[in-house]
Amino acid sequence: MTESQPLCLLLTKTLRHRLEPVPQEHLRSPADLTDWLAAAGLPAPADPASLQDARDLRESIYRAARAVAAGTAPPTADRDHINTWASRNDAARTLTGTGDAVWRLASPPAARSALAVIAADAVDTLGGTHDGTIKVCAGDHCNAVFLDSSRGRSRRWCSMSTCGNRAKKEAMRARHAQP
Ligand SMILES: [Zn+2]
Repeated sequence: MTESQPLCLLLTKTLRHRLEPVPQEHLRSPADLTDWLAAAGLPAPADPASLQDARDLRESIYRAARAVAAGTAPPTADRDHINTWASRNDAARTLTGTGDAVWRLASPPAARSALAVIAADAVDTLGGTHDGTIKVCAGDHCNAVFLDSSRGRSRRWCSMSTCGNRAKKEAMRARHAQP
């Protein structure tokens, strides 16, 4: 099973434990966004405005992905929001010397261009371009969205190393607690 996920869904995971009273925000400052973009292969400097843009786009992608997972149409406002950002995409899909396909941002790289790439990825992902099914994690307090590309589409958790493991341990504890 692969843990690799589309960019747009990775962005939605920067707000974790969505069912808890206070979800965990991983994009707290422009520096957090700069770091995240670099790790995502879209290095570009972020500022306070692009941090807000990133959070707004993230939540639109999240709500739209939840709708797709539930088999319903994404809310119109979120769809429009994602489409508007995707239409600003000026990055080029580039083949590297090692045969990988990567995004190359226009120069000088801007965080807004990186967000446009993520929105374009959301259009592809939510539009069903990838081989897989969008699901909501069954983990307690998680509610993350992920792409299940397992052969039988039997995946239940956003990540085996976090939510999957926790669920297994809890099931084991419950079994042992039985008289
Ligand atoms: Zn999860």
